[in-house]
Order: sequence, then structure tokens, then C-alpha cells
Amino acid sequence: MHQHDTYINGVWAPATGVLKTPVIDSFTEETFATYQTSSAADVDAAVRCARGALAAWSQTPLAERIAAVRRVATALHEQADALGRVISREVGMPVKLASRIQVAAPIAAWDRYASLAADLHWEERVGNSLVQQVSVGVVACITPWNYPLHQITSKVAPALLAGCTVILKPSEMAPSSAFMLAKAIEQAGLPPGVFNLVHGTGSDVGEVLVRHPQVDMISFTGSTQAGRRIAALAGEEVKRVALELGGKSAALVLPGADLAAAVKATLGSCFLNSGQTCSATTRLLIPRDCAEAVAALALELVGGYRMGDPSDAATRLGPLISRAQQKKVLALIDAAVAGGARRLTGESVPLPASGFFVAPTVLDGVTPAMSIASDEVFGPVLVVMTYDGIEEGIALANGTDYGLAATVWGATPQAALAVARQLRSGQVDVNGAPFNPVAPFGGFGKSGIGRENGRYGIEEFLEPVSIQLPPSYFETAQV
Ligand code: NAD
Repeated sequence: MHQHDTYINGVWAPATGVLKTPVIDSFTEETFATYQTSSAADVDAAVRCARGALAAWSQTPLAERIAAVRRVATALHEQADALGRVISREVGMPVKLASRIQVAAPIAAWDRYASLAADLHWEERVGNSLVQQVSVGVVACITPWNYPLHQITSKVAPALLAGCTVILKPSEMAPSSAFMLAKAIEQAGLPPGVFNLVHGTGSDVGEVLVRHPQVDMISFTGSTQAGRRIAALAGEEVKRVALELGGKSAALVLPGADLAAAVKATLGSCFLNSGQTCSATTRLLIPRDCAEAVAALALELVGGYRMGDPSDAATRLGPLISRAQQKKVLALIDAAVAGGARRLTGESVPLPASGFFVAPTVLDGVTPAMSIASDEVFGPVLVVMTYDGIEEGIALANGTDYGLAATVWGATPQAALAVARQLRSGQVDVNGAPFNPVAPFGGFGKSGIGRENGRYGIEEFLEPVSIQLPPSYFETAQV
């Protein structure tokens, strides 16, 4: 692993920033890696190299770009076991799950984006115009810590296929997989300057990147707070932004739905990665007369979330990423209880001796006026709210500033679909339907701007160019 380094213009070099960022093992609480941060000069060099490589990369035949992306997938595959272990240590997700969700899935996505790019409509005729889809230019990718390789992949793979050149700034709290990706890109032989890696915190390195005049677009995943700041900075220069931000997603259970299946799946989503998932269903909305049954089901099921060492195959719930995140989540639970919520589970539960753990917590008796009903917690905390009548249920589901994901559980898929159509949410799952990696992913409201995944994720990095031609052109050309 290339600690202390930057990868700029195809060369590993020492980072010249003054800060070092420690990477903490979320279970042992020990520092297991330290990275030197990039300076403003490093960022400038990375952007200039990306700009220098743009003309040639954007004109490189698509088949060559696709082949390069497939070689990256192969090179990542060779590091899969190490990636699973390191992400598990950083983030706290049990290694068994991390290997599948945090590693195998993103590696498969590199290949999937390559296939999708081959099928994209890169050029079409519209009347007397030839409409071409061209690269948006130099893209800064800024990513969070909760699914580090997945979020990097959702930006870097489609951007490269679109013909963009990239500067990646991963989260300073979980950067190891980004360094391993840079190694895979080096191994795959991408031309110098096409992909560049800088490292550091958002307030110094991130903002230098966002402000840089040679950056055409910022693709950001992270908190709504940072997204707002980035959008404001980008707005000053009229730069394109794509924002994947926070959420407070609802699981709306309709009368007659399979209650046991709904509660089980909602807990599974809410507690996945210890609640550190942007699209987690963290609000369970149920008909009032189901409250007792739901409480009994939740009590029984939460017992199955065994906390412990993420490297242990029997562990189902790992620690949170940091002491700060643990404190924040515990404070939000305390405030909710002080405000009238009832703690159904999670109180006085013995915790492992080390690690930033929060016991799986279900709060019921939550009302819309409580801040826990609308604030993103980013920990293993489910709130249960009751409604009278479907209209009220829909209003509750739509009743936050976010709109990233939702699930609807109905007696039939048809009944649930009728309600799903009324939700302002980028993703809506009906009756436990599986995640679809080629469907667009993104949010309404304060959950962001734009869409990732599938062909939509590649189109995010393209600009249409209309070239008007005289009729004589179309008489001879095959368009
Ligand atoms: P964060 O906003 O603190 O940081 C995300 C990234 O942005 C990091 O690389 C950070 O260094 C950088 N950053 C922070 N401030 C910046 C600034 N002013 N300028 C430039 N860069 C800046 O988020 P986090 O704590 O790493 O991640 C958790 C958040 O991410 C949650 O709110 C979660 O909902 C959200 N998230 C959203 C999605 C999605 O797809 N919608 C996916 C995962 C996470």
C-alpha cells in the first residue's frame, strides 16, 4: 500500500501537505495507518495533469476506454481479500458482509459500467442535428467513508468511460481502498493524468479541489451539510455538481401487509453497516393498530444482531466508524428519549470491551415533531411511528427534507405500487423487491441532485452537443 503518497500523472510521489491523518481500526480503536495529506500545490498539479490528459482520453476510442476499465476490475479482483479486510477495519462492517457488499459488488460494477457504456447512445439524429454525448471534462470526485470503494466506483468508473479525467479525494477516515484502487489503475496501464489521487480533509484539500478553476464538475457523495457548501462554491464558477447526500428513508407498512417480513427487512436495512448507510430505512411507519405486534416482532428480531469483532464470522453488527460518531448517535438517542420516545431495545445492553459500538436501538412512540423523526442519525437506530389512514402514512413518508429511498409493504404488489407512485423518493422498493444496480440511484430535496448507477450514472458525466447540418449531409450519411 502506498501510504504517505499521492498518485499524480501516473507517478507515486510524496504528498507535500503538513498534516497527517490517522486511520483508526473501529474495533481495536488503534491507529493502523497514517497518511500524509496533499498540499494545495499537490492538488493544483493533479488538476493540471488531469486537464492535460483530457483531450487525448476523451478522444480515445470507446472500445479502448472500455478495455481499460475492465483491466481495472481484474486488477482490483486480485486485491479483493485485502480490500475486504481493510474496509472492515476502517468502517466496522463485519468482514463477511464487507467482502460481499463493499468489495465484490463494486468490482462487479466496474465490469457492469463497461458493458453499459458499450450500449449507450453516444450519437443520434434529431431533425437536422447530430446530437453527440461528449465528456463533461475534468471531474473532481469527493467521497465519504461508509462504503468507500462502492462510492468511489460509482463515480470514477462511469467518469472514465464517459471520457472524463479524474481527481479523486476519498474520505480521510477510510482512504485505504482508494490507494489500492490507484494501484489497480496503475497496473491496468491507464495513460498518465487520466486518474489522479489526492488525500486530506474536506476543509483544506476538498475545498481547494472544488474551487480550482480547471475543474469542470464536482461529483460528491457525503453529508447534506458538506454538499450545501460544495454546491455554493461550485455555483460561484457555474460548475456542474452531482450531489448524493443524506437520507431518512421510510418503510411504509400498509394495512394487510406481511408484518413479520416488513419488520425483519426494515431492521436489516436499518442496521446494515451499523446504520451507516445513506439509504437505510430508518423510519418504520405502521397502522396504529399494529403497534403492539410490531414491538413484539422488533424485540424478538433485535436479539439476533450479535455485536462483536468484525473479523469474526459470527458477528452481525460491528462498531461505528469513530468515537465522534458513537457519541453523536448516543446523544441523539438520549435526546429522543428525553423528548418522549420509548426505548424498546438497546438500553443496558452489554457492549464489547473495545470498539465504537452502539447497541441496536428501536424507539417507538415517536411523533413527527421530534427531531429524531426527521434528522439523519447514521447509527443503528430505528424509529417507529404510527398513522391513521393511508393518506397520513403517505404524508409521514414524504414528511422530511430528504427523499433518497423508501419501501412500501402492501397486501399485494399492486396495492403497494399505488402508494409507491405517490412517494417523493429516488428509490422505492415494493414488498421486499431486491436492489437493482442498473436502476438510477439518487435523491429528491436535501438528498441531492443527480443520479448514479446504470446508464444514468454514465450520462451524469456527459454533455450533449448539437451539431446542425444541411439536409444534403443526411442524404448521404448513415445516421
Ligand atoms: P462528509 O460530508 O463529512 O464527507 C464526505 C467527503 O467530503 C469526505 O471526503 C470529506 O473530506 C469531504 N468534504 C467535507 N467537507 C467538504 C468541503 N467543504 N469541501 C470539499 N470536500 C468536503 O460525509 P461523511 O461523514 O464522510 O459521510 C456520511 C454522509 O454521507 C451521510 O450524511 C450519508 O447519508 C452520506 N452518504 C450519502 C450517500 C448517497 O448516495 N446519497 C451515500 C453514502 C453516504
